[in-house]
Amino acid sequence: MPSVSANLLLDAADATPTVAQPATSGRAQKLATRLRNQVGRAVCDYAMIEDGDRIMVCVSGGKDSFAMLDLLLALKRNAPVRFELVAVNMDQKQPGFPEHVLPAYMAKRGIPLSVIEQDTYSVVRRVVPDGKTTCGLCSRLRRGALYRHAGEHGFTKIALGHHRDDILETFFLNLFHGGRIKAMPPKLLSEDARHVVIRPLAYCKERDIARYAAARDYPIIPCNLCGSQDNLERKRIKQMIARWDAESPGRSDVMFRALKNVSPSQLADRTLFDFEGLRAADGSGD
Ligand code: SF4
Repeated sequence: MPSVSANLLLDAADATPTVAQPATSGRAQKLATRLRNQVGRAVCDYAMIEDGDRIMVCVSGGKDSFAMLDLLLALKRNAPVRFELVAVNMDQKQPGFPEHVLPAYMAKRGIPLSVIEQDTYSVVRRVVPDGKTTCGLCSRLRRGALYRHAGEHGFTKIALGHHRDDILETFFLNLFHGGRIKAMPPKLLSEDARHVVIRPLAYCKERDIARYAAARDYPIIPCNLCGSQDNLERKRIKQMIARWDAESPGRSDVMFRALKNVSPSQLADRTLFDFEGLRAADGSGD
């Protein structure tokens, strides 16, 4: 099946928005071009999009998902394959959730939006003891609802707005606390093998996305309406990576490159490399 190919990259970079966008400076334009190229490259490298795909774009109202939606729309305008994008938001019934914001924004932009209403907030409040972080359970409940919606509505892919820095932070969280070499893949099959999750921002830096989002002036909905604290350990790791980058500019780029360049024979996982079967070549020269 044809997928989005490499020659799309330049096209995507030159994509002309079909709806009115805020005026952008030369620097903002360059940034947009870079992000579009990075999304195009990630989509190609991991064959994220195929002809006929119906993609459910999960929009939380945060900067990352707003940016992902725009960058995918730019890609779609110039793609040699046809695919459909539908924005989906989850109203988790947190107190103060501004339920009018996303529908109004999407209507203004002419982008189809579905809203899943599910009161995960009450469940999390009931189940998680006071003082404990609620994000783990909240995310699991949200993921379940999103997967169910995708299955019921015939979506072939689920697009999430995780970026390069999320992937690196997850790698270090697993390394330091889980004792595992594991990150967050750009493309993933769900555990029940019924859903393909894609992360088109996998090559994009959070700093660039934040600047892009500020230039686009998105109506951001904060993810702290529930009163939960951010995951403290993830915060620490974010600061650690930022410190390393300040001391040695480009270090996070190198670390991300390493995730794409793994040598199983130089690690110690017996399930990834046949250490038992290792034998010296016959050195007799005969
Ligand atoms: S901050 Fe609140 S809404 Fe966001 S993931 Fe955590 S518990 Fe859920």
